[in-house]
Amino acid sequence: MRPFDYERATDAADAVARAASRPEAVFLAGGTNLVDHLKLGLVEPELLVDISHLPLAAIEQEPDGTLDIGANVRNADLAAHPAVRRSHPLLSRALLSGASGQLRNLATTGGNLLQRTRCVYFQDVTTPCNKRSPGSGCSALGGHTEQHAIFGASQQCIAVHPSDMAVALAALDAQVSLLGPEGVTSMPVTELHRLPGDSPERDTVLDRGQLITGVRIPPPPAGARHTYRKVRERSSFAFALISLAAEMVVEDGVIASARLALGGVAHKPWRARRAEEVLHGAPAITETFTAAAKAELEQARPLEGNAFKVPMARAMIVAALKELAVETT
Ligand SMILES: Cc1cc2nc3c(=O)[nH]c(=O)nc-3n(C[C@H](O)[C@H](O)[C@H](O)COP(=O)(O)OP(=O)(O)OC[C@H]3O[C@@H](n4cnc5c(N)ncnc54)[C@H](O)[C@@H]3O)c2cc1C
Ligand code: SF4
Repeated sequence: MRPFDYERATDAADAVARAASRPEAVFLAGGTNLVDHLKLGLVEPELLVDISHLPLAAIEQEPDGTLDIGANVRNADLAAHPAVRRSHPLLSRALLSGASGQLRNLATTGGNLLQRTRCVYFQDVTTPCNKRSPGSGCSALGGHTEQHAIFGASQQCIAVHPSDMAVALAALDAQVSLLGPEGVTSMPVTELHRLPGDSPERDTVLDRGQLITGVRIPPPPAGARHTYRKVRERSSFAFALISLAAEMVVEDGVIASARLALGGVAHKPWRARRAEEVLHGAPAITETFTAAAKAELEQARPLEGNAFKVPMARAMIVAALKELAVETT
């Protein structure tokens, strides 16, 4: 392991200044992803800026119902918070479907969003990988692709983003709050992660030294019902083959609103906008749900090894929407 310096930041501005002072600085939060990567030699920073003690661990609900979640809120605390369980149960379910109790006690909101892909070749430093070593090639293409993307992949990289929480936040139209050398800014969580294109080494649109300070979730629409589903190779302690966060409002048998995001299918949480377009204003019946799933999956480009994800995602979307509609037809 390459030796590195360690500094503990005193506040968010201090963390950003310290990270900006060195070209190869990284933030350390819970460390559940980063420390593994240090040990594997996937990252070799010259400076670790410890942000785990910054006062960014509060969850507050504003009078209009907006939830303000600090970047250092632990996954376990977020899942268990009464306001989250009441207003956004799919977020609790997504968090509880991830990792293990011990990991969730340590893992933070900011770190969860920025955890890196679980592509086995990315984690094996003996194999070519464009994400780890740009220009070296992609070992997954022509290798094992069961875990890989069916949407938005490129010839450079077919990896998927692993976070369950991010899928729920994408469906809920959450905003990410940021502090960087240029000041305070925010963006929709759906715009935080990027598709691989020709630069798969970049997971997100963040600039160097930008710190996630929190996440804001707007209140759900009245009458919304939610669900989070996840298919994985074993029933716990496993990443999603496919996951789905879904919210729907049905009024008099008609879909007033629907928000869907898929996980395990792309380099970013995949907001299912085409499916949503089919659902809006349509009757809440199985035919509509099937048409919505079809519209979304028409743009899938699976490989031989992960072609099973297309019918799996279709079945998951239809089943989840039927659950939310409490269909009687
Ligand atoms: C065995 C195992 C199983 C797992 N299973 C799942 C699963 O099923 N589903 C799932 O979603 N996750 C799973 N995880 C991943 C786990 O959720 C992440 O490791 C964790 O959320 C990362 O959070 P952290 O605070 O420990 O981040 P760290 O490891 O500290 O950091 C991760 C990255 O984020 C950056 N970072 C951290 N905080 C900030 C910030 N505020 N601003 C800017 N950059 C920041 C760091 O520099 C680093 O690059 C699993 C992990 C393990 C080890
Ligand atoms: S899919 Fe991406 S992360 Fe995996 S080996 Fe290819 S380039 Fe690397």
